[in-house]
Amino acid sequence: METTPAPHPAEATLDRRRLFGVAAVAAASLLGGAGSLLLPDTAAAASTRVRTTANLNVRASAGTAGRRLGTLAKGTTVTSGGRASNGWYRITYRGRTGYISNRYAKVVAATKKAAAPKVVRIRARVQTLAALNVRSSTSSGGKRLGTLAKNARFTATGVAANGWYRLSYRGKTGYVSQRYLKPDSSKEPAYTSTRNGLPTSARYYFSANGSDLSYLANGAVMIGDLPAGTVAWRDTRMEKAHATPRGWYCVRTAGATGWVRSSTLRRSQPRTGKWSKRTTAAQVRRMANGKLASSNLVAVSWDPGQNLVAGPALGDLTKLNKAFKKKFRRNLEIDLTYRTRGTQDYLYRELGPMIAAKPGTSNHGWGLAIDFPETRDYGFGGKYYTWLKAHSKSYGWVHHKVYEKGSPYAEAWHFEYMR
Ligand SMILES: [Zn+2]
Repeated sequence: METTPAPHPAEATLDRRRLFGVAAVAAASLLGGAGSLLLPDTAAAASTRVRTTANLNVRASAGTAGRRLGTLAKGTTVTSGGRASNGWYRITYRGRTGYISNRYAKVVAATKKAAAPKVVRIRARVQTLAALNVRSSTSSGGKRLGTLAKNARFTATGVAANGWYRLSYRGKTGYVSQRYLKPDSSKEPAYTSTRNGLPTSARYYFSANGSDLSYLANGAVMIGDLPAGTVAWRDTRMEKAHATPRGWYCVRTAGATGWVRSSTLRRSQPRTGKWSKRTTAAQVRRMANGKLASSNLVAVSWDPGQNLVAGPALGDLTKLNKAFKKKFRRNLEIDLTYRTRGTQDYLYRELGPMIAAKPGTSNHGWGLAIDFPETRDYGFGGKYYTWLKAHSKSYGWVHHKVYEKGSPYAEAWHFEYMR
């Protein structure tokens, strides 16, 4: 069965740290596309619009055995660039090539004039991996405006939900498939992690609840409302590359990259590693998802990213880390814990349900879920995953059955606090 109910809607379609910010979305699709160079988009291949008739898995290959990339909600319309021999539709999903079952997707009659694509403004230097057509719209069915040579560098000014990049081309607005692009590494640092090798001296903290993070250096396009105490790694290289005005800093924070007013940051340490209040996890779950007061959040002391968890979950997490450290002589690595509602709302509004899920339902919004890194050791069958699966539940941290390998929701890295 290729449809999915939504027992855990939070993790079913909601993505993770790389979708925390639009910067990360753009980077993820670029990096994802760089590895899979196929024939350039030369022919004006007719694309088909299809609509899902059920909540439907997107797979990396055409069949139920393909790795699950995510889920499309029932009624989502997507553009298919072609079909596999078994009839499955090929689509672009989160910047990658994916396939959906034709049993649960119906062809939509072509409209006379395509609606203007929803494009999020970005500013990223990119380079072509192959000679590449520039189209008038965000699909290979768009009118061809011309061609960019292989290795051509340009500044993308926007990204559409299907991953196509917008650029200015001979005085016109054009679009190119991100499958044949990579970041222009001569201009931009790679977005590999929040900290990305920045020195610890560049560490700041947000001083007030609800600090805005914007996608652009001039403060336009808000992508967050970071809680007080969130760690921010200042990136002066990005500031220089994007002509940052006085009073603004570029920071990497909780998986996102963006600009903040320097006045919202401070250099001192936040309160970490201690939780003495009587609030329980059950009480936290009754609070507004993604809108916890900073007094209910506490930074994980050993985490270089100083991710925040709900205070009541910290004690057991610390005990779990102690046991893990005894076994492996290292601390647990943490990718993402708390995520704010504002950021999720923004992503949902700007990118739509294809990329971001319905806000307000994830345990991340209560600081009661942890994502470990997507590395081999933390992946299915990896030594850390195997140990955590066997031991974490005795500390209240559970990897649910629904996220196990083979499940349509398979996620090795996602653990939830259940006490
Ligand atoms: Zn998660």
